[in-house]
Order: sequence, then structure tokens, then C-alpha cells
Amino acid sequence: MSFRIRIFALVMLVAVTAIGATAVLTLQLTRREVSQAVEAQNLYRAEIVEEIQRYGRVHGNWPGLNRLVIALSERTGLHIRVQTRDEGVVLVDSDIEAGRASGPVQPIAYDIDALPPLTVPTAGDDVVPVEFYRKAGPAPREIFGAAPTDRIFGGTPMLVLRQAAQFRTGLVLVRCLNETMRTEPALASDKAPYVSAAQLRMSPECTRRALTRVLTDEAWHLSFWDVYAQCADNRRQGFANPAANSKERSFCLGQAFHDTVVTSSAVPLELYLGGQGQVGISDFGRRGLAGAAGLVLVALVGTFLIARQVSSPVRRLTGASQMLAAGQLDARVRIKGAGELARLGSSFNSMAEAVQQSEERQRRLVADVAHEMRTPLSNLRGYLEGLSDGVIEPSRELFVSLHEETMLQSRILDDLQVLALAEAGDLGYTRTPIDLAELASLSVTAHRAVAAEAQVALTVDASAPAWVSADQDRIRQVLGNLLTNAIRYTDREGQVLVRVRAENGEAVLTVQDTGVGIAPGDLPHVFDRFWRADPARQRATGGTGLGLTIAQRIVADHGGRIDVESRQHVGTTFTVRLPLSTPASAA
Ligand code: ADP
Repeated sequence: MSFRIRIFALVMLVAVTAIGATAVLTLQLTRREVSQAVEAQNLYRAEIVEEIQRYGRVHGNWPGLNRLVIALSERTGLHIRVQTRDEGVVLVDSDIEAGRASGPVQPIAYDIDALPPLTVPTAGDDVVPVEFYRKAGPAPREIFGAAPTDRIFGGTPMLVLRQAAQFRTGLVLVRCLNETMRTEPALASDKAPYVSAAQLRMSPECTRRALTRVLTDEAWHLSFWDVYAQCADNRRQGFANPAANSKERSFCLGQAFHDTVVTSSAVPLELYLGGQGQVGISDFGRRGLAGAAGLVLVALVGTFLIARQVSSPVRRLTGASQMLAAGQLDARVRIKGAGELARLGSSFNSMAEAVQQSEERQRRLVADVAHEMRTPLSNLRGYLEGLSDGVIEPSRELFVSLHEETMLQSRILDDLQVLALAEAGDLGYTRTPIDLAELASLSVTAHRAVAAEAQVALTVDASAPAWVSADQDRIRQVLGNLLTNAIRYTDREGQVLVRVRAENGEAVLTVQDTGVGIAPGDLPHVFDRFWRADPARQRATGGTGLGLTIAQRIVADHGGRIDVESRQHVGTTFTVRLPLSTPASAA
């Protein structure tokens, strides 16, 4: 799995678990809250409706209702909201009264009507027609006295009107008492006759004023008879039928009563109930808490596993690089998969490999150099000790030979320096367009004397120019080395042929000799450092064993390559190929 996907999975796991856990907890809380609210509503709804209704009946209006609502809310633990039915104006909200934001309520409205119920028995059969009552005028003067017994004044409709008058008079009375004596503006009871004897006695002035107000309000009385007569008219058939009469009359009396008291009553309300939204963590069931804890545990374990998966390759890399830094060059990381971290791991392995190889090369170089210097130095020491002990006779030839030996050592050191620079990439080539054919001809000319001394025929075949972009001195060094070798390893009467030609976009230079050749088993080693086919002969001729190594390095640095073909006792051919470039004139 790629590093990015792993990180993505990790973050997603944490996010999903967090959201899931929150959702589960919220759901549980809400469900619990809702069920608590519903339970409380079922338990207290009737009681709350009843109390508010009673408040409305005895007060005739709603001011001061908030105190009752606060008390009810505290007692029931419910959020109570009361608003007018017609216009939806919120009168009291227990949450707001308690100084907090109004919480949710159930979308069910319970009706609250503050009208007093009609309690006068209306079922009795009354044969007096409505017109009689209408003519009789207002309610009996004895509103709060003993019920009238007169046929008309004691008739059922008259008693209904009397109850309505009791209600209205009571309200006028308690308001007057409130104004003059600061008493609570509430009826003594929500049932007829609504006021207590004490209230009636409290202020004769208020009682008189209340009675006068109601008894002289002719329009109000007439409205009662109008509604009753209208209803009776509409249901004339029912009234005519003796069987239905009583029921129909009851209905019309109820309507007349309602329409008459409604003007004095408080406006109808709607009640909404909800929870108080104060469910705490302790309200969770055991199972809810265990579930939440389980979720958190799963998230923890999941996060731990993924985090470990993400970090383990990084830890492996850290360990391996620490080992490498401590000198353990064979330290490598195990690579799994193909993601970014796997690529980082394989880069680390390649780097460690390169470091190890370079270290190995250096170690071998030091060993080679030490080995190379040891023999000539011990030879020199032996001769010098023999000379000082008088065991060896000093002679001119001996000194010449010792001098040659030291010259060889110094050449080896020079070559080693060039090789070290080349291998470090510090040789600093100065490239210019050069004609390899011309350079080869010049080199051949420079080697003619040596070839003549060795009695080797040296010829050059480089008629056509072959331009390359190269460092002239370094390429001359390569040519010099190949020519020196060819002459050195070719016996008398032998031949050395140098050819240059352009071929397939390459300048191809061959140095071919008819010399001793190289054994097939030795061919792969000719470019190795300090390698010689015949150390004794080579030493005699003054070679360092580094010439071909340096030549191969220089050619490779120019983007070319050098190859060798050879047959023992037949001859050897070295071929150098360099990329062709534009001639000097064009450049
Ligand atoms: P040296 O300075 O000893 O010549 P080189 O690196 O140039 O070192 O050559 C390495 C060895 O390759 C030589 O010692 C010799 O054995 C072999 N060699 C190089 N050129 C030729 C050649 N033209 N014919 C036969 N052997 C050769």
C-alpha cells in the first residue's frame, strides 16, 4: 500500500470513528431525552392543561401566567411553551423564563380554553317559548341570591343566563377589588357562582358596581337571547319534535352560554411541551457507554496498527542508515511493495551499495599500491645494504639500474595520481575539436625513433580526417600508451600499424601489432590496475601496469570505449571509438 494511501486510510479511520461515535452518542442522548420528555408529558400533560385552564377561568385573562408556568416547569421537569391560538404569539416559554435558549418542543399543540363550563342542568323539559324569556329581559336581579323559583325567572334558559352573569359579574368584582384593595384579581372558584361570600362582602361599593354593570348591559343580555333564538330557529324541527326537544335545547343553551361568556374570558391558548435538554452523560445506559468505549477501543487499535504499518518502513530505514553510519557497509533494508517508501528503501540500498563498492575499491587500491611498492623497495634496500656491507661491488651499471628503479617508482606515483583524479572525476578535461587522424600521425612520428631502435616497422594509415571533441593532451596520452605498448610487446622485425577512420558516427582508431599477443585467459584483465601478463618482462621495459587503466578511463570520460583483440604469437589490436563531432573550421 502506498504511503499516501496509508496516511489517507489512517486519517479516514480516525475521522469515521469519531463521527460514528459522536453520532451514536448523540442519537442515544436524543432518544433518551425524547423518551423522557414523552414520559413526562404523558404523566403531566393533563395536569398542566388543567392548571393553566383554571388560571385562565379565574383570572379572565393571562397576565401573571408566567409564574404558574415556571412553577409547573420546575415541578414536572418539562419545557413548557404557551402561545395564543389565533396569532401564535408566545405568552410564556419556561426556557426563556429560566434564562436559557428556548429548546425544542414536540410538534403537538394542546388546546387550552379558559371558558367556564356550563353547570346548570339543561336537560329538563321547558315548554316556555324563547320569546317569553326574550321579553322578560335581563337576568334575574338576584344574581348571587337564591335561585329564582318563578316559572319564567326560574326557567332553565334563565338559569343559564344567570350563570353567565355570575361569571361576568365575578370578574368585574375581583378586578374592582384588585384596584381598590390590591387583592389578587382572581375568582374564588372556577365553578359557579365563582365568587365567595367574603368577596361579595369585602367592598359593597365594588359589588354594587359589578352588579349594575352587568344588569344594565342590555345589549349583552339581548345577545344571549339572540344566539339562543337564532339557534332555536335553525333547529326548529328539532324543537318541534318532543323526543329531540330536550337535546336540541341543551345544545342551543350551550351555544348561547358560550357566546355570552366568551367576551369576558381569556383568549384561547395552545400548549407545547418538550424536554428540558439537560440530559447528562450519566443518563446513558450502561450499554451506551460500553458501546462508545468499544468504538474508541476499536479506533485506538486500528489507528495503532495503521500507524505502525506507516512508521515501520521508516524505522527500518533509520536503523539501516544508523548501521551504515557506524561503518557496517553491508547494511540494507528489506523492501516490501512498490510505494514511495519502497522506492526510498531501494534508493537507500543503491546508495549503500555504491558506498560499499567505493570503500572496497579504495581498500584494494591501497593494497595494490603497497604490494606494487614492496618488491622494488626491498630490492633497493637489499642492494644498498649489500653495498654498505661491502658484499656487492659498486659499479656504474648497478647505480644506473638502481636509478631506473627509483624512476619507475616515481612514474607509478605519477600515474596513480592521474588515475585517482580521473576516478574522482577531477581530471578537468579541456575539450576542443581535434582531428584524430592528424593526432595519430603526430604520435606515430614521435614514436618513430623508439620503433626504429626496437627494429619494429611503424606505419600509419590516416588519410581522411576524423573530428572529435576531446582534450588533446589526454587523447595524446592514450595514443602514446597504446603505441608504447605495441612497440614494447613486438619483437624485432615485427610491425605496428596505426589506422584512423570514421565509421557509423564514430572515429575509430586501431593500433595493431604483430607482437607476442595476450593469452585468452588474460584478456579480461588487461585494463585492470597493476595487471601485467609478464611482470618480469614488463618491469624490464619500465611499464607501470597503470597505462591501460588510465587510457580506458580517459576514453570512457570522452563518451567512447576501448576494446582489445589478441592472439598469442600473432599479435594484438587495440580499438578506440570516440563520438564524431563537427570539424574545427565549422566550430
Ligand atoms: P604497462 O605500463 O605495464 O604496459 P599497461 O596497463 O599499459 O601497463 O599494460 C598492461 C599489460 O597488458 C602489460 O603489462 C602487458 O602484459 C599487456 N599488454 C598491453 N599491451 C600489449 C600489447 N600490445 N601486446 C601484448 N600485451 C600487451
